[in-house]
Amino acid sequence: MRIIELKARQQEIIEIVKKNQPITSESIANLLNVSRSALRSDLSILTMSGFLEAKPKVGYFYVRSEERARLSKLIQGTKVGELMSLPVMLEEKSSVYDGIVSMFLEDVGTLLIVSKGYLVGVVSRKDFLKTAIGGSDITKIPIGMIMTRMPNVVVCHETDSIFNAAKKIITHEIDSLPVVEEHTKDGEVFYKVVGRFTKTNIAIQFVELCV
Ligand code: ADP
Repeated sequence: MRIIELKARQQEIIEIVKKNQPITSESIANLLNVSRSALRSDLSILTMSGFLEAKPKVGYFYVRSEERARLSKLIQGTKVGELMSLPVMLEEKSSVYDGIVSMFLEDVGTLLIVSKGYLVGVVSRKDFLKTAIGGSDITKIPIGMIMTRMPNVVVCHETDSIFNAAKKIITHEIDSLPVVEEHTKDGEVFYKVVGRFTKTNIAIQFVELCV
């Protein structure tokens, strides 16, 4: 492990190299608005301590520390199927009232909505709140009317890495992804639900990596 205090300037250089690699010392100097000679000692400290690698005629590269590389490999190598939770499913024709009751009883934040055994949508706490404050009779409205419907549902597969699944959760600003298996019928793709991958699954893994 590299235990070394870096100066602010050296940290800045590392960030520049990470974003622009391979990059010459001249370009780094231009980006920092300093002369090449003013950078010489920082660049040699960073290469000697293993943060950067200099390839002649190419430029500087960032070298990942062994610790980071190991952690990254572990996260990229862990599959959704190893961490996922059991799905909580409800039929599309169930009422909003039944959905709210299921959410409480099953203690989940998202319900996966199915019809004829296949995923047709998802419904979250906010969807229920919106409907409830709208003042409609929640015993009469079917969940199918308020859910986020296919093909707008973001899904993942058991074999996906948790890294890619977590990126989807962040990009789409959602709490969970249905884990599905694809079935093709008459040229059309249907999704059978096999699990759910949630922010809690990620938090558990995060804690386990630290113990
Ligand atoms: P909460 O309502 O608790 O904030 P989310 O952030 O997960 O939960 O949901 C926000 C919105 O995104 C809701 O309208 C919900 O229907 C929708 N949503 C939730 N999960 C998904 C998903 N996997 N794909 C597409 N939309 C989703």
